[in-house]
Amino acid sequence: MSLKTILPGSTSPTGQQITLGVMGGGQLGRMFVQAAQAMGYFTAVLDPDPASPAGLISHFHIQTPFDDEQGLAQLMQRCEAITTEFENVPAPALVTLGAHRPVAPSAACVAIAQDRIKEKAHFVQCAPVSSVFPAPYATITTDALLAAVPADLLPGILKTARLGYDGKGQVRVSTREELAAAWAGLNKVPCVLEKLMPLRGECSVIVSRGADGQTVSFPVQKNTHHDGILAITEVFEGALDPALAARAQASTVALANHLNYVGVLCVEYFLVDTADGVDLIVNEMAPRPHNSGHYTQNACDISQFEAQVRTLAGLPLPTPRQHSPAIMVNLLGDLWFAPNAVREKVSERGGPARHPPAPLRQAERAPGSQDGPPQHHRPHRGRGARDRGQGVDAARPAPARRLIHPCRCCSTPPMRLPWNKRRSGWRQARWWGCRQKPSTASRPMPTTPPRCTASLKPRAARPTTR
Ligand code: ADP
Ligand code: MG
Repeated sequence: MSLKTILPGSTSPTGQQITLGVMGGGQLGRMFVQAAQAMGYFTAVLDPDPASPAGLISHFHIQTPFDDEQGLAQLMQRCEAITTEFENVPAPALVTLGAHRPVAPSAACVAIAQDRIKEKAHFVQCAPVSSVFPAPYATITTDALLAAVPADLLPGILKTARLGYDGKGQVRVSTREELAAAWAGLNKVPCVLEKLMPLRGECSVIVSRGADGQTVSFPVQKNTHHDGILAITEVFEGALDPALAARAQASTVALANHLNYVGVLCVEYFLVDTADGVDLIVNEMAPRPHNSGHYTQNACDISQFEAQVRTLAGLPLPTPRQHSPAIMVNLLGDLWFAPNAVREKVSERGGPARHPPAPLRQAERAPGSQDGPPQHHRPHRGRGARDRGQGVDAARPAPARRLIHPCRCCSTPPMRLPWNKRRSGWRQARWWGCRQKPSTASRPMPTTPPRCTASLKPRAARPTTR
């Protein structure tokens, strides 16, 4: 079914509160629910786990398996439109939902993203319009295909076609023997072997595309991974070459257009050195908001989750504007109570050595979940030009106020004051570079500042008024 505009606060033809639904109750589902509720929608989550993070805070929680017919019927009955929070939702379930309710992204798009073999074929098919190719790869589904793998793909990374995330389901191999052993170790499930690329860096692009084809892009994220897991995301002027970033954005829009995609889409890219400079290679796509986009909640005027709600509800899509430079450190583990735990984790992950207090966003996992420790995202929102382009190592707290005016008498550039001399507001900005300072705003300029006598003309004698 096609999307129409769904306004919050209204009621459906059956008299129910307008409700948006999400397949999956994990951390991304929870943030979608929070965004939808903040915009005035009721929400429903389908997830079998009674303690799923999104289910716990949603108006309605349908606790059935994803492919359960009754559960899907309840979700359809309750919701005006339905989205997904992860790519491993069974595509047939989305087909069932899509026959009766608008579903975004569509089952066809999710089916491509949940299978690396289809995903890579899609990237190759799109290359003439996106101008970006995937890394050289081979599909391995049979012993004959394993034996036929070209030698130049080694050393490479063997990746399961389905259900891989955070580097799981991947094995690095250097020889044919290692490749055969690794495939046997993965129970000979369908895989792709990808050539190991000499990475200069990585980036990702999040776009949001409406049912009318309007597409807006978030700024390009520069990502650093540790052991296949996202460690740091940096988004500020100078973090990436602007030409490369523009190319990545254009390629992502082309990939979304080619799929007639509706919803939020994230595409990951590798940056590799070539003879002509740095080139882009498309890695994978996620048909949903992405870990690397959590900073949008603090540093942009609309977040990736609000964009997801807007595309689902057919609301206008404003172009996201980043109002603050951002560095986000992805922290793993339970960090709330141990003293200095956050600080230690931030430096362990290569985050800023000194950092200002920054929001800690917990991405919850259900108690007892097998998906690894809870993840926390610490987006550092910078405060202006000082923070831009310095990279994470140089990131440091900005002063409470920046001195923006040169000295009024000798034009000495603004100087940084010692912490105990800082004042707030305009008075600080009017302190003089030559260390002269008026004690009040209305006080006239001193006639003979000690370091500027040469540049000052003698002041005319003041006429007496009496
Ligand atoms: P996941 O689904 O786990 O995110 P990815 O394919 O994105 O799987 O791989 C995780 C990380 O492993 C990447 O972000 C990158 O750092 C590294 N990696 C993956 N494929 C390659 C490759 N072909 N060459 C070099 N590094 C790779
Ligand atoms: Mg990845």
